[in-house]
Amino acid sequence: MNSLTLDHADAAVEFNKNEAKVDWHDETLWFVRTKRDRAVALVPEWEQLREAASQIKNHVLSNMHDLLVQFEQNAIRNGITIHWAADGDEHNAIIHEIIRKAGATQMVKSKSMLTEECHLNKYLTKNGIEVIDSDLGERIVQFRGEPPSHIVMPAIHLTKAEVGETFHKHLGTEKGATDPQYLTEAARQHLRDTFLTRKVALTGVNFAIAETGGFVVCTNEGNADMGAHLADVHIAAMGFEKLIPRAEHLGVYLRLLARSATGQPITTFSSHFHRPRPGQEMHIVIVDNGRSRQLGRPDFRNSLKCIRCAACLNTCPVYRRSGGFSYHSAVAGPIGSILAPNLDMKQNADLPFASTLCGSCSNVCPVKIDIHEQLYKWRQVLMKEGYGPGSKTVAMKAMATVLESPRLYRMAGKVGRGVLKFAPATVENRFNPWYTQREMPEPPAESFHDWYVNRKKA
Ligand code: SF4
Repeated sequence: MNSLTLDHADAAVEFNKNEAKVDWHDETLWFVRTKRDRAVALVPEWEQLREAASQIKNHVLSNMHDLLVQFEQNAIRNGITIHWAADGDEHNAIIHEIIRKAGATQMVKSKSMLTEECHLNKYLTKNGIEVIDSDLGERIVQFRGEPPSHIVMPAIHLTKAEVGETFHKHLGTEKGATDPQYLTEAARQHLRDTFLTRKVALTGVNFAIAETGGFVVCTNEGNADMGAHLADVHIAAMGFEKLIPRAEHLGVYLRLLARSATGQPITTFSSHFHRPRPGQEMHIVIVDNGRSRQLGRPDFRNSLKCIRCAACLNTCPVYRRSGGFSYHSAVAGPIGSILAPNLDMKQNADLPFASTLCGSCSNVCPVKIDIHEQLYKWRQVLMKEGYGPGSKTVAMKAMATVLESPRLYRMAGKVGRGVLKFAPATVENRFNPWYTQREMPEPPAESFHDWYVNRKKA
């Protein structure tokens, strides 16, 4: 059983078996979080930018239909072909058909979490199309047959030595090489050949502008541009929430995105695509895949404001110490935990519980999504819908009975202290997940209530 088939808590136990790696993972992500803090501190109007970004997205969510139609009309006027996909299967089939019509059997793809959500690589591979991911981190995990563990840094769970081993196996680099420059150069040469020979390239979309019918793709490696500019056919895949109304709104999001993601003032490449170059075909696939359902949930619709910066992952103490694979969903971390139950409540019922509800995610979110409040609300929905573990429901009911009665509460306290003192094995055993990660406290001789009453008498 791999971590993708376990529930979050069990998968986190697996990840935590390598304590040194967990510490390193935690520290690396915290380093990115502090870089974000330093970058934010240099922008005095940061809070106004967040507010503006949030309000613009509110407007988008409330006018989704009109803005989508406006975007489609302008894109068609620019010579772009628009496709609509109700779900992941339709998204995959549309892309397969475009590749088939182009007479290609290979495709180069830059980073797109939507294609992960729709399992595009798996689908195309099954249908005889070879897909090469061109983002360095994604290429590393693709070589290893793993999904990305982070939405911005897909291979953040791997050490330099592990990347060296992977490249030795797949690219023939020297055994034991760990020098990032040497390894990156090897990947660069390998990908360069790919860019020059692929007829079809797929990119994601960071922002789609209703006013112009164009879209913007942000990368640090220029890989989206290399693929799209050299290919005869450019496919761009986007969830419909990527819309912004006007080009002037881009400035707000571009200033927020890179600072929140990596602490950079701006991504190295923010590429604007408006129309195919002469002789090129350009397609945009606009995908719903559960987004309309989320838009119709008043408590959760704000999650569609997300610009996938990953600041909430980098700051989350649970993500940092449990790793991306523990979330068994395309998008990991706090934002993934409020998106995934919308796609499948049963399969993802564990994810909203993978949080301390400390609120750090909401504090750093550049579009002001109330992430920790939505995590808490999902817990209530999931328990009400019957997706919580039966044992928890029984335990909560028993706890409610005890807490409602002072007499019962005092009795339970007495029994608990007695058990901890005279039969600790009842609690301190490997079947108690609470105990396996902690040392149980020394039981006090008396309860606070008894101590207070005795002291008052004395
Ligand atoms: S929820 Fe906010 S912080 Fe998290 S990835 Fe989305 S925009 Fe970034």
